[in-house]
Amino acid sequence: MPRFLIKDTAKHVGEKVRVCGWVNTWRAHGKILFIDLRDISGVLQVVFVPSSPEVYELAKTLRPEWTVEIIGQIVKRPENMVNEKIETGQVEMSVENLKVLSKAETLPFSIEGDGYDINEEIRMKYRYLDLRRERLKNNLIVRHKLIQFVRNFLSQENFIEIETPILTKSTPEGARDYVVPSRMEAGSFYALPQSPQQYKQLLMAGGLEKYFQIAKCLRDEDPRGDRQPEFTQLDMEASFVEQADVMDLTERLLISIVKNLYPNKKIQETPFPRIDYKDAMAKYKTDRPDLRKDKTDKDVLAFCWVVNFPFFKTGSDELGYPDGKWKPTHNPFSRPKEEFMEDLLHKKNIEKILTTQYDIILNGFEIGGGSIRNHTPEALEKVFEIVGYKKETIIEKFGHMMEAFKYGAPPHGGIAWGLDRLVSLMQDEPNIREVIAFPKTGDGRDPMMNAPSEISKNQLEELHIKIETPKKKKK
Ligand code: ASP
Repeated sequence: MPRFLIKDTAKHVGEKVRVCGWVNTWRAHGKILFIDLRDISGVLQVVFVPSSPEVYELAKTLRPEWTVEIIGQIVKRPENMVNEKIETGQVEMSVENLKVLSKAETLPFSIEGDGYDINEEIRMKYRYLDLRRERLKNNLIVRHKLIQFVRNFLSQENFIEIETPILTKSTPEGARDYVVPSRMEAGSFYALPQSPQQYKQLLMAGGLEKYFQIAKCLRDEDPRGDRQPEFTQLDMEASFVEQADVMDLTERLLISIVKNLYPNKKIQETPFPRIDYKDAMAKYKTDRPDLRKDKTDKDVLAFCWVVNFPFFKTGSDELGYPDGKWKPTHNPFSRPKEEFMEDLLHKKNIEKILTTQYDIILNGFEIGGGSIRNHTPEALEKVFEIVGYKKETIIEKFGHMMEAFKYGAPPHGGIAWGLDRLVSLMQDEPNIREVIAFPKTGDGRDPMMNAPSEISKNQLEELHIKIETPKKKKK
């Protein structure tokens, strides 16, 4: 007998069906026992009566969160018991057969309600239980729909989804790298990508023209605000494009997402307003202005672009760069605006050089950023020189990029969206952990898997690693 999803049962009144799921609630009304059976698609009221003693006795033992398989007839509920709030509210199941598939101990916390008030570390330790919560399940389903929508949209625009390596060499994006020791090459390390930046540009050198990826990015940052050591970007890059092309694509895709997946939300202004970095700082004292006229209405989406950023800034807080005076404000691979190219090539008026960078902001949060890139080796080399890399280091770290651009590289540019952030804002969630299946704590731990954790002596030996610092006390 095929299994029915609960949401489909209402269309089969009078029929015998088989359903599987979790006991959501159990209650007795006099001699009649009711359970609400829950599966991924919904909840179904199931009725047990004493006239089938065997099934009835077993039903008495059922407890919340046991998994069961039930065969029975779908019948119309009595008029006064109809529940308009749920999809199966018109019907219930009259049971013929009940099978217990597994029992459950009392859960460490309630999975009813939104769960915001439960200690988050405990929710993470038992994430597989927390995910049974309606809110989290729904967040992951919507996240899937959004990704599916993006895939279809970009495929129609002739973008190709391409995977890039996770074991790689470091790309400076202003954070510390996670590294992986090489077993074959003692003393050498891979870096996990802070973003697929270099690979996507190399794909452009490879003639793929339009690339996208739902990409994992890994940055070993100190706990700072609502960040995760690994997060997901919608990463895109295209050849023969200018700033306006990438911004237009982003804007069309965002507007379509809202129209199709969030018809109740209203975009405050289209085309998205464009603000100069300078003006944003003068007027709003931030480069992520929240332009909502009414900040209390959660269904208003105020997108805007911030453009005309300085290419370089002074300061020492950025990791992954030499200790020199200048650091890129965003991406070292960016191209300056055309009128500043001469200055870059002559390393003149550095503080005045503006970049082609564009950041996309939603209700005061940066949800993405990108730029047109330097596609000539000369211009790229100048950026690295300004940032303070020595000649040998430039060759050693970025030689492959400069080499790749010697063989007819197309002008190109792109953008990456913070997908977790976008979904959390659209779902009105207070942080990105609520839309990630298995997030980490602020200090980078996974309390469920207990990671990071020690590895065996054997593994260390194979990797040629000796641990010298005493082990830090676990929290
Ligand atoms: N790689 C950049 C980032 O992760 C995005 C881009 O410039 O496309 O911020």
